[in-house]
Amino acid sequence: MNNATNTSGRVALVTGASRGIGAAIGTTLVERGYRVIGLSSSGKAPGGVMALACDVADPVAVDAAFARVEKELGPVEVLVANAGITRDCLLMRMGDEDWSQVLDVNLTGAFNVIRRASRPMVKARFGRIVVISSVVATMGSIGQVNYASTKAGLIGMARSVARELGGRGITCNVIAPGFIATDMTEILDEKMRTEYLAKVPVGRMGEVGDIARAVAFLVDDESGYITGAVLPVDGGMGMGD
Ligand code: NAP
Repeated sequence: MNNATNTSGRVALVTGASRGIGAAIGTTLVERGYRVIGLSSSGKAPGGVMALACDVADPVAVDAAFARVEKELGPVEVLVANAGITRDCLLMRMGDEDWSQVLDVNLTGAFNVIRRASRPMVKARFGRIVVISSVVATMGSIGQVNYASTKAGLIGMARSVARELGGRGITCNVIAPGFIATDMTEILDEKMRTEYLAKVPVGRMGEVGDIARAVAFLVDDESGYITGAVLPVDGGMGMGD
């Protein structure tokens, strides 16, 4: 485990922080003075982020990770549910495992961490939760019936949490990234990349920092009147959906 370098800021936990968008969120929050913990299956995290190995789909492992954070740093005040996987396949060929694995990590994983974080947040009468959905939640996507279902489900989850906990100083918002350059999109072939890019009005792929800066805005102490929002960070790709 790396030691978190900052000891004065709020405690922020980011899931899926070993690489890609989650790593950028972790780094950005560290730069802004948060004490950041990164969960991932591999237990890796960028410099300055305290790394813990944890399968977010496993509620027992999630409870153990939170208990350790609470013991070492105090209760989690900022939660970013970012961990996600794809198992792309056309509907008629999609196996039960392709469906259930994606639901377990993307949807149940977010539920597990939000539920575990909520009680201490209610007690503190402060909390900031951000869920990382996707532009495909509302657009749909060929070969992603499983993934798009989870990303749409996250919006219902976040808005329900926003309604339940809004009176306790807790916000819960959604970021819907578009086409962002990470390992997840690296696997797409040239034809698919060209097709995706043609749908992006700003004419480029997003960078992980584009998402991380939006997260930093939503988790700020001063963003307490924004809740239940779905913020697209997609270069205009999903406009109108
Ligand atoms: P990525 O590079 O594939 O990274 C995924 C992260 O999730 C890794 O840190 C991985 O940990 C972690 N993870 C996977 N399964 C996990 C589990 N069971 N428990 C804990 N951690 C787990 O993905 P990304 O592109 O950064 O995407 C991050 C989020 O943004 C995802 O929710 C994704 O759906 C969403 N998103 C991405 C894009 C895009 O274009 N990239 C667009 C829209 C939405 P390990 O390192 O241990 O594998």
